[in-house]
Amino acid sequence: MVPIIQRNVGWIEVICGCMFSGKTEELIRRLRRAAIARQKVSIFKPRIDTRYSEDHIVSHSDLKIPSSVVEHPREILEASLESQVVGIDEGQFFDEELVAVCIKLANMGKRVIVAGLDMDYRGVPFGPMPNLLCVAEYITKTHAICVRCGNPATFTQRTIKDPSRVIVGAANIYEARCRNCFEPPEFTEEASSENHQKKTQATPKSK
Ligand SMILES: [Zn+2]
Repeated sequence: MVPIIQRNVGWIEVICGCMFSGKTEELIRRLRRAAIARQKVSIFKPRIDTRYSEDHIVSHSDLKIPSSVVEHPREILEASLESQVVGIDEGQFFDEELVAVCIKLANMGKRVIVAGLDMDYRGVPFGPMPNLLCVAEYITKTHAICVRCGNPATFTQRTIKDPSRVIVGAANIYEARCRNCFEPPEFTEEASSENHQKKTQATPKSK
């Protein structure tokens, strides 16, 4: 998928999709392959994602790989000067600065791979992911399987009513749904919640 590129040319890859679509597994697969080729790999995740492990990135299927926890995207820049390949998991939890950092890393000749949720539980683009998709050379959208009907799923359904944008470490309150089965939340008080960066709300289905 990613063609062979001459040395010293960097680029950005984004792996995005809903929960349970295998984003982290795909990120780990790419990073492992690079490590096997003896490329210098560094891996980062945001502090907010403390599920399972503080110093590893872990997929739902229990694949894991050592990673550094960072607060701000600029820390990634400082910590990966020596790396050829930079992996970033849970990209949606970083602020917009992540986009500038990824561009800088790619311009320095590094391969940058970011995995993250493209939409939140309302179906609204999540954090820096939409802008990252614009500047990426390669984009992979991963699909889960809708738990209701078995079709390919691209939405993350929250199964409890809670207006916070992020409920970390509670994977059991989410499930993957297709467009037909996805039910956007109906409550509107979330627009005033400090947890929401955007006031746009997914349009509820008319049916
Ligand atoms: Zn469905």
